[in-house]
Amino acid sequence: MVENYLDELLPNPPCELNYSKDYEFLLAVMLSAQTTDKRVNQVTAVLFSEYPTLKDLKEASSDSLESILRPLGSFRKKAQYVQKIASVLHDDYQDMVPKQREVLETLPGIGRKTVSVFLSELYDLPEFAVDTHVERVSKRLSLAKSDDDVLEIEKKLKRKFQRNEWGRRHKQMVLFGRYHCKAVKPECETCKLSEICKNGTN
Ligand code: SF4
Repeated sequence: MVENYLDELLPNPPCELNYSKDYEFLLAVMLSAQTTDKRVNQVTAVLFSEYPTLKDLKEASSDSLESILRPLGSFRKKAQYVQKIASVLHDDYQDMVPKQREVLETLPGIGRKTVSVFLSELYDLPEFAVDTHVERVSKRLSLAKSDDDVLEIEKKLKRKFQRNEWGRRHKQMVLFGRYHCKAVKPECETCKLSEICKNGTN
């Protein structure tokens, strides 16, 4: 039932972050913590235009990066992450982005969720990222318990959904949470899952 409704509502869920290179996507996902994709797109349009290579980002001044990233919040920390990630990828990986989770997770500011989004979106690898939207929707729909942590939720969602659909289901749940099953004022009146939902109005 959940799958059918997600397919009906969001048959072709897009990734809402703009990017043209693999490292741009990795940085964009990292920058999206605690802010919106729309704001990240506005900022990265400037960032990647002013600093079009990893070497440029590595050599950018902290002041300049902070000024560009300021609209995102936590901009000092994020500026440091951008510079350090650019340095490591440029110096140690010849401007390539490694595909191994263990390596990616050693990069500053890059955690499990970011790696899952990156590998799933770019390489269609079977990963299921659990962000704040996926967590909220999972708990409201009893796909996870209220006290489950993100790792437990990930395990449960991987068991529920077919492996070859994990990437798409993740994006559907993110967009469903972002635009329909919102944290505040979810659109329960029009939601076809209200009968099986803890928050539902039926
Ligand atoms: Fe979300 Fe409301 Fe639908 Fe439940 S009924 S899944 S809270 S929109």
